[in-house]
Amino acid sequence: MIEHTSIKSLLKGEVKAPQNVVVKGWVRTIRNSKNVNFIALNDGSTILNIQLVIAAGTDAFVICEQISTGACIRAEGLLVDSQGKNQSVEIQCNNIEVYGHSDPEKYPLQKKGHTLEFLREIAHLRPRTNTFGAIFRIRHNMAFAIHQFFHQKGFFYMHSPIITGSDAEGAGEMFKVTTLSLENPPRTNDGSINYMEDFFGKATNLTVSGQLEAELGALALGNVYTFGPTFRAENSNTPRHLAEFWMIEPEMAFYDINDNMDLAEEMLKYLINFALENCKDDLEFLNQMYDKELIERLKSVTAKTFKRLTYTDAVEILEKNNKEFEFKVSWGTDLQKEHENYLVTHFGGPVILTNYPKQIKAFYMKQNEDGKTVRAMDVLFPWIGEIIGGSQREDNYDKLYARITEMGVDEDELWWYLDTRKFGSCPHSGFGLGFERLMLFVTGMTNIRDVIPFPRTPKNAEF
Ligand code: ATP
Ligand code: MN
Repeated sequence: MIEHTSIKSLLKGEVKAPQNVVVKGWVRTIRNSKNVNFIALNDGSTILNIQLVIAAGTDAFVICEQISTGACIRAEGLLVDSQGKNQSVEIQCNNIEVYGHSDPEKYPLQKKGHTLEFLREIAHLRPRTNTFGAIFRIRHNMAFAIHQFFHQKGFFYMHSPIITGSDAEGAGEMFKVTTLSLENPPRTNDGSINYMEDFFGKATNLTVSGQLEAELGALALGNVYTFGPTFRAENSNTPRHLAEFWMIEPEMAFYDINDNMDLAEEMLKYLINFALENCKDDLEFLNQMYDKELIERLKSVTAKTFKRLTYTDAVEILEKNNKEFEFKVSWGTDLQKEHENYLVTHFGGPVILTNYPKQIKAFYMKQNEDGKTVRAMDVLFPWIGEIIGGSQREDNYDKLYARITEMGVDEDELWWYLDTRKFGSCPHSGFGLGFERLMLFVTGMTNIRDVIPFPRTPKNAEF
């Protein structure tokens, strides 16, 4: 049986003092003096440490000589109301067992105040810092809240495949999946690689999106969502792009583009409120250490109605400001981060843009009557830019087929997707939320490498 109590529940007063308790965790600091030693112990359950007070003359006091920052210990003693004003309770500790020593000369987290860049190089240890403990607890809470949000709304969690046989999504460069020899792959008569001999009997890749498969689910189960890893081999070393990131992709039968926007807005507000309510200590820490406006920004977004406007109207606003942009805007150009930021500042909060020119959007988006635009929607957030990309899907077989041919997408790879438009097609919509973009917003971190435990970026797959 587990004999120890989590530090979180002790500090929350879930165990009445005075009472004998056992705690287990990692030493954050140890202060030695002649009569008494103090250890700040953290077990990851909360950002807060519990104070162990070790009086001279006890066995524990002697053991303290072997303990330094980073060591893992078991501590036993009397939980009492604290004398100091920084903590509610502390432990008068009379018994300590050391599970794992930590060499004070070599432990990289000895001192406080390491840069985020340095901590990336020791990603195996950075979860032990206050910052990354906070971020990863928030990350868990956001993942949980996503499932809770959809479950409460009657959505079904659907697992889309990670290995995909189609490279037709058009969402970016893909990573190949193969068991063929790289030095000496089998070849066909014309010299190209013979994927018939590969593991799956065809060329396969890591998925860039679960959307197309989620659509198949929506056309049977009504409302579904995927939440899984996606992979893009784009060589863009930016603070907002990872080669491996997680995406939440709901797909809803009988939703039009407006229902789609309503859901996206409701979901984002739900998630941010969930963080405000359930991650208080961690958010307060991040607010204090990194971004004094974080909590205010989170609150303000949940209180605002997101501004909705068409791409065409947005371009009109942007064109007036063209002289200040590095990339000039005119109707038909894809919007860059600088333009997204401008719009978000202009409207003082989140913006949802709709009805983009069809040539800058994917083949599956529903075409408008004007013949020029599609029913796309991008949600733009302060600090982040695009956090969600979505659309109403083209449900008309002929229009979808025409667009696939026009854009040179390989129809043989998508026969199953086209099939759904032949058998019981219906209006439906969906979107993709980049989980790490959400995490950037909620934590106030500025580099996407700092909101995922082990970031994958060009030339970086350590750990
Ligand atoms: P961007 O224009 O920002 O590169 P995108 O238009 O390529 O994004 P989509 O294909 O619409 O992105 O993907 C849906 C969502 O996934 C985006 O709104 C964003 O939140 C997230 N996303 C896309 N690419 C990445 C990436 N490389 N790393 C992290 N998140 C990403
Ligand atoms: Mn997009």
